[in-house]
Amino acid sequence: VDERLNLQDMDLPESERALAALGIPAPVARRVWCRVHREGGAGFEGVRGLRAEHRRALEERTAFHDLEVLERRRAADGFVKYLFRLGDGHLVEAVRIPLPDPGDARALKERRRRGEVSGLQPLPVAKYTLCVSAQAGCALGCAFCATGRLGFARNLETWEILAQVRHVAVEAGHPVRGVVFMGMGEPLLNYDNVMRAAAALTRSAGLSIAAKAISVSTAGVVPAIRRFTAEARRHRLIVSLASPFPQERERLMPIERRWPLGELMAAVREHARAIDDLVTLAYVAIGGVNLTAEHARGLVALLAGLRAKIDLIDVNDESGAFPRAAEEEIAAFRRRLLDAGVPVIRRYSGGQEIGAACGTLAGSRRGGELVAGC
Ligand code: SF4
Repeated sequence: VDERLNLQDMDLPESERALAALGIPAPVARRVWCRVHREGGAGFEGVRGLRAEHRRALEERTAFHDLEVLERRRAADGFVKYLFRLGDGHLVEAVRIPLPDPGDARALKERRRRGEVSGLQPLPVAKYTLCVSAQAGCALGCAFCATGRLGFARNLETWEILAQVRHVAVEAGHPVRGVVFMGMGEPLLNYDNVMRAAAALTRSAGLSIAAKAISVSTAGVVPAIRRFTAEARRHRLIVSLASPFPQERERLMPIERRWPLGELMAAVREHARAIDDLVTLAYVAIGGVNLTAEHARGLVALLAGLRAKIDLIDVNDESGAFPRAAEEEIAAFRRRLLDAGVPVIRRYSGGQEIGAACGTLAGSRRGGELVAGC
């Protein structure tokens, strides 16, 4: 057993306490933490204010572990999928999502509204959001998800989550401004490590990502949603529904057996009251399955009195069992919800040809352009 300290696995206050025991004052401990969390295994040489004996103590008593970057694949739409190998051989993935400057995006929307442009227009990249994995594999077995078919291997340690972000951030030409826990695994079943990683990401000594720009997506782990609410976490919670009808939801998302819709929606309502804001509900759009007028009515009834918005995400099921919906089917479903006063946003799920789209993360090594660094 390696009993040396792993500073990557600690949020700043824990790290300050551990380094205080070595006689390192808090301001210097903060710079040490900053070095480890921004630069990885760069060592402690040159950390301002760090005395030589403290540097030697750190070199003796701390260990640096890392993920191995096996591949980076870039899709035509600019999404880049990173494939990492963990120390025990399991594979996890993260997806770098390019985003334009919000001002440019608003200006384009306005030009589109005035009829000056139509369709998708490429905008220059200004920043990135990163979709990260919280577990190797997943135990929840959602029918439309490739990760679910892998089964569960293990929870990721805090440092294994943070290392995904750091690897991408150090080589990105633009800042990483958001993180979404929507990669492999159910983040709320790895609650402590995910929350510790999220807290570390928000530190100004770390990557300084706004708490609200960190999203935690769950299939509906009710006790953890209640804990998230009780702890007044400031990250955005996204709850995945797939159907407003319990029997159908159970076929698509077996977690329904453990925490049924009624219980889930009670926890979502508590969360909405606590944050005094809209809650986000993800709805995977499956052609010919969950987009009928009856589903729209069911969803409207389920959300009655709740301040919520729907993120509509195209299914990406490479097994072929769950087809994508035709544009008209999605448009009609969306229109029904909008007419009933439920806000709906159609989410773009990119990187399809490299297996980086929602529901396809399973360690595949195909498509796109293999890149050495980016
Ligand atoms: S959708 Fe999420 S919760 Fe469901 S099996 Fe896939 S990774 Fe797990």
